[in-house]
Amino acid sequence: MSIIVKEVTKVYGSQKALDNVSVSISKGEIVALLGPNGAGKSTMMKIISCYLPQNEGDVRVCGHNVITDSLKVRKVVGYLPENNPLYLDMYVREYLEFIAGIHKLGRQSAARVKEMILQTGLEREHHKKIGALSKGYRQRVGIAQALIHDPEVLILDEPTSGLDPNQLIEIRNLIRDIGREKTILLSTHIMQEVEAVCDRVIIINRGKIVADAPTHELQLLNQANRVIRVEFQKAAQWELLKTIPGVMEVQNEKANIVRIFAGSTQDLRAAVFEFAVKNQWVILSMMYEDQSVEQVFRQLTIES
Ligand code: ADP
Ligand code: MG
Repeated sequence: MSIIVKEVTKVYGSQKALDNVSVSISKGEIVALLGPNGAGKSTMMKIISCYLPQNEGDVRVCGHNVITDSLKVRKVVGYLPENNPLYLDMYVREYLEFIAGIHKLGRQSAARVKEMILQTGLEREHHKKIGALSKGYRQRVGIAQALIHDPEVLILDEPTSGLDPNQLIEIRNLIRDIGREKTILLSTHIMQEVEAVCDRVIIINRGKIVADAPTHELQLLNQANRVIRVEFQKAAQWELLKTIPGVMEVQNEKANIVRIFAGSTQDLRAAVFEFAVKNQWVILSMMYEDQSVEQVFRQLTIES
């Protein structure tokens, strides 16, 4: 296991930011920590990166304990903090050399800086001051500094927040590339990001984990509310569909398109088909709607 978080609680004053959280992440996984603002994402990432001690529980990164072996943990972890704090007055190359110095890379420094500049696509920007870079390029610098000591585990706290759509895609591609060789835990509140980049999603809400599943499974997690979308040839009395046993709700999407909500995991397609035949309604198409990660996320985290 690259990361093991066991029964971790973190309290700020009287507020519990993490409440008995347990998570294990295997080597090579790209995992999203998804949650609304204030859920505890940054707190968990700071604890894993040794920037903040937990109050209770045990955290290990590549086998090293974050409290008793923090120097070893820092060697195997690269961390991009939220809002990517950088020295805007430093030149890109100068900054990366400075970070290489902090990691005591010694004679390897120059080669690593060069490699990072290439890997993160900073060739044309490395002679510029960080303050002169666009947000997307600043993120690249942030990722480069997190990777410079070649850590096995990368912790990225909202790496794509505030980027424009083109930058977003570029940074996602970069993360996916890096993920071929590293274990990555990234936080986000952008659902499409999870679907685009991550193997697995951990949803956190108010300091508690409310879901932890492979991305494709999460889309099916809420099968109790399966939805069938049916396109008919023309409009009809859709209310009648509610008389089919098992149908909980019927919504009109267009005059001739309805969404039928099942109250259980029961497959209602055959019953809907027979009902339509009986009423001489011609069906043009009928299929299950994919529950997107976004829908599941809203169901699991929405304030009640
Ligand atoms: P997220 O990154 O998911 O938005 P955080 O981990 O930053 O959530 O915060 C979790 C909770 O802990 C929030 O309610 C936040 O207000 C609180 N919190 C975070 N940092 C501090 C701090 N330094 N002092 C007091 N409360 C904090
Ligand atoms: Mg945060």
